[in-house]
Amino acid sequence: MQRPTAVSEVSRPRVVVIGAGMAGLTAAHLLTAVADVIVLDKGRGVGGRLATRRIGDATLDHGAQFITIHSAEFAATVGRWVTDGVVAPWFRGRIGPEGVLDPDGHTRFRGSVSMNAVAKNLAVGLDVRTASQVAALTHDAESWKVTLVDGSELVADVVLATAPVPQTIALLEKGDVVLTSSDAAALNTIAYDPCIALMAVLDGPSGLTEPGAVDPVEGPIDWMADNQLKGISSVPAVTIHATPEFSRAQWDESDEAITGALLAAARLDAAVVAGSVQIQRWLYARPSVEHPERFLRLSDMPLFVCAGDAFGGAKVEGAALSGAAAAAVIGSVLGLE
Ligand SMILES: Cc1cc2nc3c(=O)[nH]c(=O)nc-3n(C[C@H](O)[C@H](O)[C@H](O)COP(=O)(O)OP(=O)(O)OC[C@H]3O[C@@H](n4cnc5c(N)ncnc54)[C@H](O)[C@@H]3O)c2cc1C
Repeated sequence: MQRPTAVSEVSRPRVVVIGAGMAGLTAAHLLTAVADVIVLDKGRGVGGRLATRRIGDATLDHGAQFITIHSAEFAATVGRWVTDGVVAPWFRGRIGPEGVLDPDGHTRFRGSVSMNAVAKNLAVGLDVRTASQVAALTHDAESWKVTLVDGSELVADVVLATAPVPQTIALLEKGDVVLTSSDAAALNTIAYDPCIALMAVLDGPSGLTEPGAVDPVEGPIDWMADNQLKGISSVPAVTIHATPEFSRAQWDESDEAITGALLAAARLDAAVVAGSVQIQRWLYARPSVEHPERFLRLSDMPLFVCAGDAFGGAKVEGAALSGAAAAAVIGSVLGLE
């Protein structure tokens, strides 16, 4: 059977994907069948909010904590990751305020090595360029010019933008790209909650019980996990996520003040190893107002698709499904037009 594509083997279209998080990497995998795909990310490594840090001998996931499954499509993907040893079940059910499990039927999967390793695994075989921050996007009648902060430029037939939406809007504004009023309204409606994450290595067991997490009812802590009990750190080390309210209110406070407030609330059994605390401020941690569809194709310009976890479902699963849906629409436009 002939491949359902009008794309010539000699001159394949070029797709530039902005963002090597779950959405961008998922899309890039699917699009390599029909296009030359370049993934650009401003980070030193891949993963975006699938983020893990090493502090001394400790390994700490400080963005997404676990992966859940709510769709058959994503179940198949996670099933492959389990078979390949990329992810493993962490626990089943919902963690309560005291760390006790309240069964809700969903298994929480962790990266077998770390959450970031899930992204690294997805990036294998792709043309991913890290430390490559896009500065502006401009277009003519047929194609896009992607300008990086180092002044280099890439020409693309298609752009897939998976950065948090306010960052994508900024790139378009920088290039004086004119959005239709309905596209501008759709993008400007999307909003995110911030999250301040604290990472700390401990000089002994944290005091948390198996499986190593708590989900308090009240702030300032939204979530706390013991990365050793989780199975990814050889030494005791905790990740503390502040609530959106605390994160907003304390955003500009010093790391010391934030550390003091969060560690006091954590009431850990062990002391923090001197000099081991690190703070990460996630400005766009989780979408609070999402777009109702899994992607948005911008009108009146060469093919430009916005995707990511703000499109049709927050969380790692939503990002993966959005990336897949964006790849499908791009593949179909490239194959049929
Ligand atoms: C603290 C926290 C806890 C979370 N907990 C969970 C959880 O337990 N379970 C769950 O399912 N989800 C969780 N999430 C949400 C989950 O991490 C995200 O939904 C998902 O990882 C988003 O993937 P993405 O590809 O849409 O975006 P991202 O991972 O944000 O990827 C976007 C990428 O774009 C890049 N980028 C941005 N601007 C530019 C530019 N100008 N040039 C080049 N690159 C650029 C960024 O560097 C980034 O790598 C959590 C998130 C946070 C922050």
